[in-house]
Amino acid sequence: MQQKATQFPCQKHPNQKTGGKEMKKLVVILLMLVMLVTLAVPVMAKAKKDKAAPAPAPVASGNYVASKTAEPFHLPSCKWVQKISKDNIVYYKTKEDAIKDGHRPCKVCKP
Ligand SMILES: [Zn+2]
Repeated sequence: MQQKATQFPCQKHPNQKTGGKEMKKLVVILLMLVMLVTLAVPVMAKAKKDKAAPAPAPVASGNYVASKTAEPFHLPSCKWVQKISKDNIVYYKTKEDAIKDGHRPCKVCKP
């Protein structure tokens, strides 16, 4: 009896036990919330990651992408790849090929 007296400092109520049950309910709810959060965080992190690296558009023919009219070459996932017009797009299998062709690594995606 004495150990739970701190919850009711003003009145020594005989119904202390119900107070204990309420507390237990609260604890269970809190635990469930914590579990939900722990479950949701990795999912959210994954969703964020998926968003950051969108499926590289019609890029199947090379590991590196460049524009005929611009110097930098990119990883297929780079945002600048989306801006290269389809008429000017060039694919390279290796960085060396791109560099030999006069391109330099993009500063954004750092291929
Ligand atoms: Zn880039």
